[in-house]
Amino acid sequence: MAPRTCGGCTACYLTHEITETKKPAGQPCPFCLPNSCEIYQCKPRSCTDFRCEWLKGIGDGLWRPDRIGVVLDYCTGVLLKQLLQIWEARPGALANAEVWEVTGELLECNICVLHLYLSGKKVIFLPEQLTLSPRERKQLLSEGLEITTFPILGIPSIKRGGSRLCLETR
Ligand code: SF4
Ligand code: SF4
Repeated sequence: MAPRTCGGCTACYLTHEITETKKPAGQPCPFCLPNSCEIYQCKPRSCTDFRCEWLKGIGDGLWRPDRIGVVLDYCTGVLLKQLLQIWEARPGALANAEVWEVTGELLECNICVLHLYLSGKKVIFLPEQLTLSPRERKQLLSEGLEITTFPILGIPSIKRGGSRLCLETR
């Protein structure tokens, strides 16, 4: 299969922080043109290096960030060993049923999920099996994260099976 390209998507130009140009997360990049970058030939390293999960091949065409309205960004760390960050690129997109479906499925696979809203709100969903020490909990809270443990109460519409994403195969 041919490698994916960003096409007309510029979602991460909004969602992600660009340290070199001091662009904060969730703020439009001043160099962003409707379908491209004004400084494409000399764009910052952060821009060159970033590849969202859709660009790497995760999810079908619906999951192209400018269509679904969210950017998927998987990372590993010391405290949260596996984490899928879901960045809101269009207001309200984190409420999509598809987003909750994937959130539920990854939590069941013991992968933490972080929802990052354009407003700056950050909600971390932790798998039931993961137990944090008080110090680790405090660290997450100090980073401004709201902590939620799976199962997610009050969201009855999480669909089971048929996910179009498969981060488990990494
Ligand atoms: S969000 Fe993904 S597909 Fe869209 S511009 Fe960024 S890297 Fe490309
Ligand atoms: S500098 Fe260019 S590539 Fe980087 S976020 Fe801005 S528009 Fe996108």
